[in-house]
Amino acid sequence: MSHRSLPAVVLVGRPNVGKSTLFNRIVGRRRAIVNETAGTTRDQIEQPAHWRNVAFSLTDTAGMFGQSEDPLQKLVVEHGHRALQTADVFVFVVDGREGLVPADLEIASAIRSAGRPVIVAINKTDDRRARAGALDFYELGFEPIVEISAEHGQGTGDLLDEVIDKLAKLQKGGDQHEEEDHPVVEPRIAVAGRPNVGKSSLVNRILREERMLVSEMAGTTRDAIDAPFQWHKRQFRIVDTAGIRKPGRVARSGPVEAVSVLTARRAVADADVVVLVIDATLGAADQDGAIAGEAERAGRSLVIAVNKWDLVKGQGQEFSEKFDDKLRFDLKFLEYAPIVHISALTGERTPRLLEVIDNVMQGRQRKIPTPELNKFFAGVTASHPIPSPGRTAIRILYAAQVGISPPTFALFTNVASDLHFSYERFLKNQLREKFGFLGTPIRLQIRKRKRKTERDKAQSEWARGKTPAAKSSAYSTKNDRRTSGNDRGSKSNDRRSGKGQRTRGKHGKR
Ligand code: GDP
Ligand code: GDP
Repeated sequence: MSHRSLPAVVLVGRPNVGKSTLFNRIVGRRRAIVNETAGTTRDQIEQPAHWRNVAFSLTDTAGMFGQSEDPLQKLVVEHGHRALQTADVFVFVVDGREGLVPADLEIASAIRSAGRPVIVAINKTDDRRARAGALDFYELGFEPIVEISAEHGQGTGDLLDEVIDKLAKLQKGGDQHEEEDHPVVEPRIAVAGRPNVGKSSLVNRILREERMLVSEMAGTTRDAIDAPFQWHKRQFRIVDTAGIRKPGRVARSGPVEAVSVLTARRAVADADVVVLVIDATLGAADQDGAIAGEAERAGRSLVIAVNKWDLVKGQGQEFSEKFDDKLRFDLKFLEYAPIVHISALTGERTPRLLEVIDNVMQGRQRKIPTPELNKFFAGVTASHPIPSPGRTAIRILYAAQVGISPPTFALFTNVASDLHFSYERFLKNQLREKFGFLGTPIRLQIRKRKRKTERDKAQSEWARGKTPAAKSSAYSTKNDRRTSGNDRGSKSNDRRSGKGQRTRGKHGKR
């Protein structure tokens, strides 16, 4: 069966890294019979698949790489070569638990010379051991790198986002349309806050429709809404969450806290950006802190909209500054959340609010190229050395952005030690300032680099093309299409694309 009209996504990797498991997950079938013994698959499988309405064909080059006494091996390899030649995008599956091994380097060479975009999927990261060894894969020089668990589904949504991003770029003919390089994902904005602060007024103002009942009475029940809207040619989606119930309605003691936390959870669960609405005449309350804390924990971005500013703006600049200082003090988590003073009633500064939300959204999805990131960390740690409690000075050997939404960075260090929390905060602030991660929590993963043997070192030097041997091999940098910049993506949803429950057996057991 052939689906040549579709763009071709080709899975490559050593036997037993999890290609078949990933293949099944992507085409949305029940698990094929997988086997711990290497080389149990030898058939190349091609199936149509789709993700976010983008259709592509997925090919598993099972059995192509790796030794085998299979009489059909020759055929398998031939088919595999054809797949390599016709690939539009490669997904290079590697085993995070085992780390980089020589067979991976051979595959890296083969796909490098094919000259197509390569996405590295570090698999089996459900196993903690898979994390420390990840660094070696970064040194292969392919980007992006996504950490996944094909078996459990973590990260596979991110991987597919990267795949369709690459396909979209190919279709547009490379990266020349940078100005259009906006997230493919429709940002979801949740408007949250206590009753009567003006949430529905704000949502209505934004949607320019009196869609919802606005009432003077606190706690008026409304249907939750979820409405798309356009702003400056960009599509957003606004989600209104009913206000947190007034404490008076529930018993004074326990349940109040429970209710507010629950509502906070609901408010942030579906959002990319949470707009926390505060009443200018009242300031922040505990519930606001609960929403803010929940947003931080869930990795959502946060913008604070101080509403009803029309009622206080007569009080001058000093009032304004004092108000913001107090607000930041009351909401301890939120040094990074931008504050906008608005009036949903008059529409004052609601366009500014949308501009800020848009900025925040772009920051959330920004991906910093690895070389730039490493230069940045080298500079920062040189001027502000990492405080090291032990005898060995802690150094960051290598840094890579391993995720977006929220931006997540892996820092590979020489010592297995956490960084002091104040230093982590310092690094986050520096990152935020330098790369414009406005209103967004930043995650740092500190990982001790695996100790390298001499052989490992030689291997990774070879992978980076530092040795003369590499120059004369199939490895060729001119075909190495590394990409960087705004790689788009989304939440790690693990919705499967494709449908049907057909099963695919793995043939050719030896
Ligand atoms: P293939 O030879 O590359 O197609 O690999 P398979 O998909 O057949 O998987 C090889 C083995 O790795 C099987 O035992 C799988 O259950 C296991 N495996 C695949 N993906 C994962 C994963 O994400 N985590 C873990 N822990 N094991 C996995
Ligand atoms: P919600 O419960 O948070 O959705 O709040 P509503 O949108 O229902 O607004 C509660 C009350 O505050 C209504 O009487 C609104 O007219 C009023 N209100 C909302 N926004 C503003 C504003 O910017 N300025 C003033 N003065 N009143 C506002």
